[in-house]
Amino acid sequence: MESPTDEVLTESENRYPGLRQQFADLKAMAEIACVHCDSPDTAVLVVGITGRTMSLADLSTRVKLVANREEPGERWCRTCTRAF
Ligand SMILES: [Zn+2]
Repeated sequence: MESPTDEVLTESENRYPGLRQQFADLKAMAEIACVHCDSPDTAVLVVGITGRTMSLADLSTRVKLVANREEPGERWCRTCTRAF
């Protein structure tokens, strides 16, 4: 998976304190295969579209933003496009 550069992370952290840690936590959470199709290409669902969450989503495809929690589950499969 792609990783943001340290420079990008530092810039994000300056704008949103704690974001670097939050990103690390989300990244660790996303490293789980999809229960539907076993794909490793998954993301964590983050509810709420704000400057902070958009900044997180910019850092990685491992973060998927949703405006409201309509789907059950905390993770998103990018292969079969379902929550789990
Ligand atoms: Zn899947």
